[in-house]
Amino acid sequence: MRIENDRKLDFDDVLIRPKRSRLETRAEVELMRTFRTPHAGFEITGIPIIAANMDSVGTLEMAKALAEHGIYTAIHKHYPLEELEAADLSADLNFVTFGLVDDLSQMKEVMSALKAKGINKICLDVANGYTEIFVNFIRRVREQHPDCLIMAGNVATPDMTEALVIAGADIVKIGIGPGSVCETRSVTGVGYPQLSATIECADAAHGLGGLLCADGGCRTSGDVAKAFGAGADFVMLGGMLAGHTECLTDEQLKALPENNNMIEYYGMSSAEAMEKYSGGIAPHRASEGRVASIPYRGDVQNTVQAILGGLRSACTYVGAYKLKELTKRTTFVVKN
Ligand code: 5GP
Repeated sequence: MRIENDRKLDFDDVLIRPKRSRLETRAEVELMRTFRTPHAGFEITGIPIIAANMDSVGTLEMAKALAEHGIYTAIHKHYPLEELEAADLSADLNFVTFGLVDDLSQMKEVMSALKAKGINKICLDVANGYTEIFVNFIRRVREQHPDCLIMAGNVATPDMTEALVIAGADIVKIGIGPGSVCETRSVTGVGYPQLSATIECADAAHGLGGLLCADGGCRTSGDVAKAFGAGADFVMLGGMLAGHTECLTDEQLKALPENNNMIEYYGMSSAEAMEKYSGGIAPHRASEGRVASIPYRGDVQNTVQAILGGLRSACTYVGAYKLKELTKRTTFVVKN
């Protein structure tokens, strides 16, 4: 046993110190960013926020709405190929999600079919990215899809961030336990404060030319600004984008009046999700997600504007003309 005594921080533990600036208005702030992917070798451009690959967030309708703002979506893994093929998807801004599987033939079939639409971004998502099996899986997917962007996770420490980049991930997804409907920390006792994880893992990823996505724990646009300030290249959002029209099925929309405009938002490792997709919780597993009852929030457009407005304002407070400059201009003040 060993104890690490240096303080690790969450978003709530810090504030960004304001700095002198020549910026006159937040409208001047450029939020678009272009990145070169280290393995796939192409450039991608967009506002580097990604809707989470949860079945109530990373929907096809959400992808369409967010693409209008230049924002990415990690489309969840439960859509049949025909639905993906039929959807009107932006080639530049969408990731297709896959879980850990032995047989890569289905992934090959899906990505080959979507290549015709220009979609070449893969999200490999597991709750625990620390296993050798997952690292080997990334290697195999990289071999099979040399010209696709691969985002993979989740991990929360620099050693595994490096391992995933070396195995073939262009973007490493960071976050063990910070999610709004995540129960990993209470069920298993495992986790890592998300701001510190982002700072430490960004350094590790960037050292190898890799990119980093901070996934989970953002509850406000201020948290999103802190994640970018900490060094995240991308920030993934679940709860902040949940509860909008674009996330709901027709039945859920119809049932809103009788449910007092409340809807259920559940974690992808919750008993509810496992019941829906795997026929229940396997005997060796525990639910690591919960159900939250959240208010219906209308179209996602207003929320997006509020998030982007907050982010622009954060940049203005520290004199960053571009989102790209935010990390360099960020000094965190630790609250006592
Ligand atoms: P949020 O933005 O809501 O704080 O976090 C979203 C992230 O929480 C997702 O992208 C995913 O990484 C994580 N997540 C989603 N569902 C679950 C779950 O059931 N259990 C755990 N441990 N994490 C989850």
